[in-house]
Formats: sequence, C-alpha cells, structure tokens
Amino acid sequence: MSETRLAFRTCPLCEAGCGLEIAVQTSPLQVINKTESIGRIRGDMDDVFSHGFICPKGSTLKQLHEDPDRLRKPLIKRNGVHVEVEWDEAWAEVAGRLQDLIERHGRDAVAVYLGNPNAHSLSAMLYNRTLLQGLGTHNRFSASTVDQLPKQVAAGYMFGTGVHVAVPDLDRTDFLMILGANPYASNGSVCTAPDFPGRIEAIKTRGGTVVVVDPRFTRTAQEADTWLAIRPASDALFLMAVVNVLFAENLVKIQDRIAVLLNGLEDIRQACQRFTPEAVSDATGLDPQAIRQVARDMSAASSAAVYGRIGTTTTEFGTTASWLVDVVNTLTGNLDSVGGAMFAKPVLGGPTTRGTSGKGSGFRIGRGGGKTKVNGYPEVMGEYPAAALAEEITDVSESGIKALITVAGNPVLSTPHSHQLSSALEQLELMISVDIYLNETTRHADIILPSPSQLQRDHYDVLLLQFAIRNVANYSPAVLPLDDGQPDEWEILAKLGLIAQGFGPDVDPAQADDLAIDGLVRHSVGDP
Ligand code: SF4
Repeated sequence: MSETRLAFRTCPLCEAGCGLEIAVQTSPLQVINKTESIGRIRGDMDDVFSHGFICPKGSTLKQLHEDPDRLRKPLIKRNGVHVEVEWDEAWAEVAGRLQDLIERHGRDAVAVYLGNPNAHSLSAMLYNRTLLQGLGTHNRFSASTVDQLPKQVAAGYMFGTGVHVAVPDLDRTDFLMILGANPYASNGSVCTAPDFPGRIEAIKTRGGTVVVVDPRFTRTAQEADTWLAIRPASDALFLMAVVNVLFAENLVKIQDRIAVLLNGLEDIRQACQRFTPEAVSDATGLDPQAIRQVARDMSAASSAAVYGRIGTTTTEFGTTASWLVDVVNTLTGNLDSVGGAMFAKPVLGGPTTRGTSGKGSGFRIGRGGGKTKVNGYPEVMGEYPAAALAEEITDVSESGIKALITVAGNPVLSTPHSHQLSSALEQLELMISVDIYLNETTRHADIILPSPSQLQRDHYDVLLLQFAIRNVANYSPAVLPLDDGQPDEWEILAKLGLIAQGFGPDVDPAQADDLAIDGLVRHSVGDP
C-alpha cells in the first residue's frame, strides 16, 4: 500500500516566496527500492506569508524534478559533442584546464556570469562568495545589470547600500502608485509579496486607491482605479512634475524624524521648478491635470506608496526615476512609515539591521577605477553590465577574457546582444557551466556541472527577504534526498572555488565552510 508524507517548502521559482505543501509518495515497490516520488503540490494554507496562494508555476517543481532533460551527471565536450561523465572525471578536467588557463593568462582572464536563480538559492548565496574569492577575478557579470541595478544605485546613494530598498507596505497602504510593473503577471519583483495581485485587490476593498502608470494597458492597469498611459521612458519627467506640484501647492509634509536625516531638500525644490506638469506633458503624453491630481491625492491620502519596477529601470534615466520614486515617497511623508515605503528587517541580517546608524563606508560606483575594457562602463556593486560581456570576450587584447564560468544562467537567451554573445562564447578557450540544463548558453560549455533538482536542496531566501513586505523567516529542508554520487549545490560551488585557488580535484569542499561562515558572520554584524 502507498504511503504519503507531507513536506513543506518555500517556492524558489520567483521572488514571491510562496509556501508549498508537497505530497511525497512511497509505493510498495518504492519501499523496497527506498525511493519516493512527488505527488500533488499545492499552496501551504498555514504559511504565514502566502496563506495558501500558489501560481501555476509553483506546482511544476514535480515536473522540473522528473524532467528527463534535466542533467543528472556532468557533461564534458569531446570532439564537439557533450558526453556524460562521472564526477571524478569532471573535477579532474576542471582542475587541469582552469589552473592551466589562470597560469597562462591571469585571474582576470576568467569571467563569471551569475544568473537570476542564484538569488533564490541558499547554497549560491552562501558559496558563490567562495567561488568568486577563489577565482579572484574582477570580471563579474550577472542578471542584475539587465533590469534592476538603477534601483539599487539609487538606493545606495540615498540609503547607504544597494540593497537598502524601500518596498511598498501593500497590506496597510491607502494609495498605491505602480510605475512600469505588472505584478498580475510577474508576482512582483524587488518586492517580495506572495499573492501581490490579491494584496492590490485588498487595497481597493478597504477603500484605497490604485494608480498604474504604464504605456501598456496591462492586466494590472485593468484592475487599477486610474491608468495613466505614459510614454515609454518618461517616468523621471512624470515624477519630477509630481515633485513640482508637491512644492508648488505646499503639499510637502516630511515627517520630523525623516527631516533630520535629509539633505538636498532645497536642491530638489530648485531642480523641479521648470518641470511643471505642462512642461512635461508632451514628453510624457499625460494631461497636466492628471499629474496634478496624482500629486494631490497622494499627499491627501492617510498613507501612500510609490512602487517602480522594470519599466522605470530599463531606460536611459532609470537611476533618476528610481531616485524620484523615493523622493516622492519622502516628500509625501511616506518614507519608512506604516502604509508607505518601508524597509524590511530580515532575520538573517542585512544592511537594515546591522552596523551603527549613521555609519558606514557609503556607496560608490567604479571602485578601484574599475571599468570595462572596450567601452569603459563602470563597476557597480562589484560587477559590470551583462550587455558588455560579448564585447569584452571578443576584445582581442592580451588582457581580455579567455574563459567564462556561468552559474544557473542563460545569458544567450536573457541578456542584450544575444547573437553577439553566442558567437563570442565560441571564441573562449574554456567555458564551465554550473547548470541543470543544456541550453542556448551551456551548449557552448566545455564542462557542465549539474546541481541537484530544486526539491533536493534546502532553501532560505537570504537576499529576497531583504525586500519583503513583512518580516518573515522560512527555512525549508530538502524534500528529497540527493541521488547517489550527486554533490549538493554548495559542494559544487565551494569545490569550484577551491580548485580555482589552486587546490587539486580531490579537495574536500567542506574546507570552504570556515570561509563561508566567516564571511556570513562578518556580513551580518559589520557596518554596511
Ligand atoms: S508566485 Fe512565484 S513563488 Fe509563488 S508559487 Fe508562483 S512561482 Fe512560486
């Protein structure tokens, strides 16, 4: 007779972090074989954050785990064809080729690309540090530069670090203005909130107002009280006009405890003077009266929050627009205020919970004079724009990139200049990918090291709870055991980092534990 046990896990597939209830079944034959299979996956009704919400993606962890195309063994490219090998052979190949390349070209000849799933992985959040330190390269790229760094740069300059992001207090706000985001499709981003759409609907149910500013009549716009069909990339002008109205009509109402921390108030009052609603009307495509009404309504609301996402950050003035989002939150008295834009205080620690208030090293870009070689783009938060990766590889100078390590990323599919990048990858002397699929990017890799499936990993959202609208902590143990011989994800990343440091293929990845834990502790208690 079959047996069923229930396992609980936070969904790792998007930033919402919904709780899942997973039925794990054991048939009589499986009892003999000591194996289990996944049955039904549904929302965990007792999850304190998601209350049973689940989207169609969440239930596909079963299909992802069972997918015959998911890699279970390492692959090495031999004569242009990927062949399955055992882990010992893969590590020997990694050690031999990586060390040889570093000795011939230096550490900056190896670039790293970290894909979006790293932000959803406990192992990656703890052990990518080991990998990057082991490699010692400045050539770091990630998915963040494709769509969100302007928000983080603005947060860094305003609040001290790039993860000091204020998120809308969806559950208590009376007025929400959404710019360039469609949470009915995305479930939210750089704002962790399971059932984001349900929380928007709750604002309306309790008599609040939702305004969507978006060139497209998105699903979210359809649900809003007001849709402002702004011209693409003009969000900064619109927000500057809102600031203009707030000053011109004496609607600024900064809280005392925030006022003592502000600088530049007079500068922004001066700067906004020429950006009247009439002056920006043509560029934004918005009726000046509509802009005035938004400013008045926000100021009059007992609480209000502006939330800007991808449409505001993938534009020429993305950093300015992101800064203005929090300027408006501040001027209307809604920064760090109930129902306004607030900062999470994650249990694991982060910039909002560690260090001494008012102290810190501050935020800057281009540290150490860091710039890309071909077009001189500055370093931001330790990395360079993914859009520049292809040209940095095809740069023929002796100091150019000769090898690439990708971790859970498919930049050929998801970053700009994808055809150029696909061709550039063919020029590399060595490419190593940590990935569970052979895809548009990893097909170029010489060696592919697969992590276990999501259900075979434990989980805690180290990063995303920094952007959560409630202070929660959910640790999930792995639902299923590892396959025989399969290293855990942290072991793969740690071993790769140790091999890059010069340890041989037989190095025990546990050696990296001290380094990882030391880094975590220092990160949790030091000044940002
Ligand atoms: S909304 Fe995101 S976290 Fe929630 S079930 Fe869907 S994919 Fe998973």
